[in-house]
Amino acid sequence: MSEPRPVVTRFAPSPTGFLHIGGARTALFNWLFARRHGGTFLLRIEDTDRARSTPEATDAILDGMAWLGLDHDGDVISQFDRADRHAEVAHTLLAEGKAYKCFATQDEIAAFREAARAEGKSTLYRSPWRDADPDTHPDAPFVVRIKAPRDGETVIRDAVQGDVTIRNDQLDDMVLLRADGTPVYMLAVVVDDHDMGVTHVIRGDDHLNNAARQMMIYDAMGWDVPVWVHIPLIHGPDGKKLSKRHGALGAEEYQKMGYPAAGMRNYLARLGWSHGDDEFFTDAQAREWFDLDGIGKSPARFDLKKLENLSGQHIAQADDAALQQEITAYLAATGATALKQSQSDGLMAAMPHVKERAKTFPELLDKAHFILTERPVTPDEKASKALDLVSRGILTQLTPQLQTVTWDRDSLEAVLNDFAASQDTKFGKLAGPLRAALAGRAVTPSVFDMMLVLGRKETLARLEDAAA
Ligand code: GLU
Repeated sequence: MSEPRPVVTRFAPSPTGFLHIGGARTALFNWLFARRHGGTFLLRIEDTDRARSTPEATDAILDGMAWLGLDHDGDVISQFDRADRHAEVAHTLLAEGKAYKCFATQDEIAAFREAARAEGKSTLYRSPWRDADPDTHPDAPFVVRIKAPRDGETVIRDAVQGDVTIRNDQLDDMVLLRADGTPVYMLAVVVDDHDMGVTHVIRGDDHLNNAARQMMIYDAMGWDVPVWVHIPLIHGPDGKKLSKRHGALGAEEYQKMGYPAAGMRNYLARLGWSHGDDEFFTDAQAREWFDLDGIGKSPARFDLKKLENLSGQHIAQADDAALQQEITAYLAATGATALKQSQSDGLMAAMPHVKERAKTFPELLDKAHFILTERPVTPDEKASKALDLVSRGILTQLTPQLQTVTWDRDSLEAVLNDFAASQDTKFGKLAGPLRAALAGRAVTPSVFDMMLVLGRKETLARLEDAAA
C-alpha cells in the first residue's frame, strides 16, 4: 500500500457575490479538515464566467474569510488564468482517443432530441462523430467531447452520502472544449483539483451530480479520484433551502451585526457537523475534533438564537485585549466613529464587567456606555426619573462619605450599606439614582463595578454633577 497523501483541501467559490453563509461553512469545513491533519488549505477563485465574476466579489470573499480567520495556504489561484492548461488536458484526451471532435450543429442536436422524445427514448445526445474516422472530418467548427462510458455504473464514494451509484447510460459525452476552444467549467474543476493535489473535495451537495461527470475526466486521464465529501445544504428554520428570505446574509453582515468571529466559527461548525453533544467549543477544540464522520446526512437548520447564544459564550470567555481589538475592527466595519484613546482605555478596564452576558458587541458596548460616555452625563428618560429632588438630596449627602473611603469593593459596599441604613432604607433604593448619576441609564453593570472602573475622582464628579 502506498503512503496516504498529505491532506489538501480547497475552497472554490465563484466570485459572483458576497461570501454567503453556506460558502463560509464550506470554507470552514475545508479549513478545519486541513488544519486537523496538518494539511494544506487552498483557495481557488472560479472566475471563468467572465460576465458574472467581479473583482469586488473576490474582495468580499477574501474579506469574509479574513474576518473568520480562515487563512489559506499559498497564493489565491484564478481558474480563468489556467484556461490554457485546461485546454491542454482536453487535447491530451483527444490525442489518446478518449475524446473526439464533434461537428454536430445546434440544429442537428435539437433534431436528435426531438426524434428521441417522439420515440420515447433518452434525449441524451449521442453524437455520430464519436467513432467517426478522422479522415471524414469536415473543415467546420467543432466541440471536443469526452467519450463517456456507455455501460456499467459509476460509483461516487462519498464520505457523507455513502456510495452513490449512477448508471453510465445516463451520462452523455460531455463537452470539454467549446467551438471557440475555451474549456468548460467541469473540465476546469477537475484539472485544477488534480494539479493542486486536492485529496478531499468538501463542498455543498448541490455538486453531487457533477461528481459523476467529473469522475469521467479523472478516469480518462488515469488520475486519482479525490475523496468526495458532499455536505447537505443549510436550510432555514422552515426547512426550506436557506435564502435571503430567511435573512441569510453575507459573512461580513454578521461581523457588522457584532458577532465575534470565534462565535461565528463555532456556530458554522455546528451547522451540519457535531462532536457528541458539544455545542460550545473553542477553535483549538474544533481543529482537534473535526472529522468527516461527524458531518450529518440531513440539512442543518439555521438558527439565529443558537448563534447568539454561542456568540455570548465566546465573548464572555475571550481574552480582554483580543476582544478590544475585535471590537475596534467591528466599529471600523460598521463605519462607526473609532474610540478615542481614553474610551479605549476605559473599555479595557471595564471589560471584565461588561463582557458577561453580552451576546453581541453592540450589547457589550451598551453595557460599557458608562465608561464610554463623558461628563456631563446626560441621563436618558428613565434615568431622569430616578434623579428627582429627594434622590439628588441623598446623593449630596453621600458624596462626602466617598471622599475618604478606601476605593475597593468591600469598603464601598460597607459605606453604601451603612449610608442606606442611616437613611432608613436599603442599598437597592440607592441603586437607581446611582446608576442614573454614573451612567445616565436605568440598566447598567453593577454600581460597584462602575465605581471601581470609573475611579474615585470621576465617580465623585458625576455624583456632584447629578446632585447639582
Ligand atoms: N464554484 C463552485 C461554487 O461556488 C464550487 C465548485 C466546487 O467546489 O467544486 O458553488
